[in-house]
Amino acid sequence: MKLPQLGIVEFIKSREIPNGFVVKQARIVRKASGYFVMLSLECDVNVPQPVAHGLPVGIDLGLDKFLATSEGKLVKRPKFLAVEHRKLKLLQRRLKNKKKGSSNRHKLTRKIARLHQRVTDPRKDWQFKLAHSIAKDAGMIFVEDIDFRVWAKGMFCKHTLDAGFGQFISILSWVCWKQGVHFEKVNKDYTSQVCPNCDFHTGKKALDNRVHNCPECGYTTHRDVAAAQVIRNRGLSAEGRFVDIRPLAKVSGAL
Ligand SMILES: [Zn+2]
Repeated sequence: MKLPQLGIVEFIKSREIPNGFVVKQARIVRKASGYFVMLSLECDVNVPQPVAHGLPVGIDLGLDKFLATSEGKLVKRPKFLAVEHRKLKLLQRRLKNKKKGSSNRHKLTRKIARLHQRVTDPRKDWQFKLAHSIAKDAGMIFVEDIDFRVWAKGMFCKHTLDAGFGQFISILSWVCWKQGVHFEKVNKDYTSQVCPNCDFHTGKKALDNRVHNCPECGYTTHRDVAAAQVIRNRGLSAEGRFVDIRPLAKVSGAL
């Protein structure tokens, strides 16, 4: 391909450009495993916005659990990255002792970059699979409108970054768009302090209290599932949609 300033460059074509598409932009991306060219394509079709229909699902993101859904699904944070993370920390500490500009330092930097990719690639993969499994059965998905950049600066700092919530939300919204699932962000305030069954304000829960137990109506479930159900209800009522009163979700996994 011919690129501005670089001229003719040889590249490995990993897939064909589909018929009817025009290349609008080429981006060269440098990763630890090599240089990649990313092509943006354009095609002249109208993509209809998905109309909200089907099963509404609310999602609560957290640190104790990666996420909880209003259907009672609890997903733990993946542990398989912990080993790589420790290795990464170790290498980064070692980097301090290496002289600037030395070849040893250069070698170590390359090693860190490769390891970093080994951490981020599986995480992305895991997040895609999770997003697909959630979007598969849903007609509408609602999440809290959280600015994760602010979150990352606060007390949740390390954990939030490890968990990669912001990346997951953008992957989820993309998967929803692909599958014709309605995706929407709703007001995040007090989602863990309201009863999803009767709207009663239960007040702030202590962090170690994992159970939602409403003193008003007696509804009991995992606190993160309760929060996810509040998020679902908000998404539904925000648009004046009919709030489906079905038997309350059973929680899979331990409370
Ligand atoms: Zn209640």
